[in-house]
Amino acid sequence: MFAVKGLNVSTDKLKVETEHGSVLATPMPRTVAAGEEGAAPKPKPKKRKRAGRSNHTDVNLENVADLWEKVIEGGDNKARKAREDAKKEAHKAKKQKTEATENQPEGTTAAAEAAEAATLKPATTLKDKKKKIKADKKAAADATTTESKPSAPTPAPAPAAPKLTPLQAAMREKLISARFRHLNETLYTRPSKEAFSLFSDSPEMFTEYHEGFRRQVDVWPENPVNGYIADIKTRGKLRNAPRTRPGDGTSEGTKYPLPRDRNGLCTIADLGCGDAKLAEALVPLKRKLGIEVKSYDLQDGGKPELITRADIANLPLKEGSVDVAIFCLALMGTNWIDFVEEAYRVLRWKGELWVAEIKSRFVDPTKQGGKKGGPGNVVSHSVGNRRKPGAASGGPVGKKDKAKMKEEEEAEEEQQLAVHVDGVELRKQETDVTAFVEALRKRGFLLQREYGHGAVDMDNKMFVKMHFVKAVPAIKGKCADLKKEALKTTQTDAKGRPIKTPKFIDAADGEASFNENALLKPCVYKIR
Ligand code: SAH
Repeated sequence: MFAVKGLNVSTDKLKVETEHGSVLATPMPRTVAAGEEGAAPKPKPKKRKRAGRSNHTDVNLENVADLWEKVIEGGDNKARKAREDAKKEAHKAKKQKTEATENQPEGTTAAAEAAEAATLKPATTLKDKKKKIKADKKAAADATTTESKPSAPTPAPAPAAPKLTPLQAAMREKLISARFRHLNETLYTRPSKEAFSLFSDSPEMFTEYHEGFRRQVDVWPENPVNGYIADIKTRGKLRNAPRTRPGDGTSEGTKYPLPRDRNGLCTIADLGCGDAKLAEALVPLKRKLGIEVKSYDLQDGGKPELITRADIANLPLKEGSVDVAIFCLALMGTNWIDFVEEAYRVLRWKGELWVAEIKSRFVDPTKQGGKKGGPGNVVSHSVGNRRKPGAASGGPVGKKDKAKMKEEEEAEEEQQLAVHVDGVELRKQETDVTAFVEALRKRGFLLQREYGHGAVDMDNKMFVKMHFVKAVPAIKGKCADLKKEALKTTQTDAKGRPIKTPKFIDAADGEASFNENALLKPCVYKIR
């Protein structure tokens, strides 16, 4: 015959091969173990022939090309095309995978996955092929999408939404307000021990509380802490008292120097300092003014250098170690009287106590209609005071009644809240601080003479400011035990003359025992 380049195939051999065809047409020969009969002689055919094909084809000029493909390349046109397609697709997919991987730094993208699948599993059946083509198309599409922004920088992993939509922002505001309101109520309606452990367990609550508090302060016409900062600056510069008699003028307390210890230092304790606005304003001036500011709150708010974490009912301060104690809106907690008694303990004799509170918190038990049960029941907007619907009929409180009650409570609360936030004092609620002043007198505090009428400052629409001095022995509370000792101390006025102490009244004398803590109503804030 003729020689085919690179291959020495004789027609004889081709004939032999056609004989093998019948062997090849049968199912795959079973594996024969070495030594087994018939194991050796038959050489394993190199190419697989398709079953069902005629094996009796002679090679001639016309069919040589076909036979070449069929026998040597092992497939017909269709099969070859399929293989070629598969090869192309695998190549294409590989290329796409590389591109996709280059553009997708992290993880396996859909494109890469599809490409990988295509590379690893060339299509064998039509079904497989279709699947593969589909996957390839998807891969290509994905890769294109990725490719369309080749120069885009790698996106940061899961970035927080950079800008909130107006709706999201409004919802966030509501959430902050709601959290603040809840925490605020908690502080006002529980004993400080509970508040202390609550904030100790969850310090983030403190941050939440102050975020809300700051928002409230922003809408107030005046922040009392600013007044205190100004007063300290003014009085801190004075060294000598004026020649006039104390209390001659009105609100002239700022003409008097700050109380100081023997070394001329004035130690100021800001009790319930919040985010230590007072300390922040005054610490830079401490040398100039000769002051030291100590700040205490339930949490240090991330400012441990300024704020000491403590329950102000239990201060880490020595007796008589403070010259000025300040409660600026800090008489929260159902045991606020304990705070006052603690202030008495840490203040030195003639030390000053400054109190700023929201006007509408003050309750005068003697002017609440003289109801049975005494002043302990007087917190007027307390829900518990209202008669429950259904109670008259003696029947149980139904669902409708409950809903109505809730509605009423909310309406009433709204009215109360308007007082605080809008700075609108309800006319019917004349602020009367008499009972409060009396409770403090029993704890050894007198209104400060130097301030005259201004010792109770009602000028502000929302707040009352009061100036007390530790000038008499406590006759009630934990410091009453110290009264004998205190009485030994000779009290003198600015000119060194002995001060007449008021007649000592025993706490039990002619007094109905009631919870004085109820003299200040809890204060809740309106949500904007
Ligand atoms: N005096 C600050 C903050 C007023 S808000 C100002 O005027 O800006 C009242 C603060 O009193 C809150 O920070 C609250 O945490 C704190 N407070 C309430 N009860 C307290 C307690 N028992 N011990 C310490 N701080 C208390």
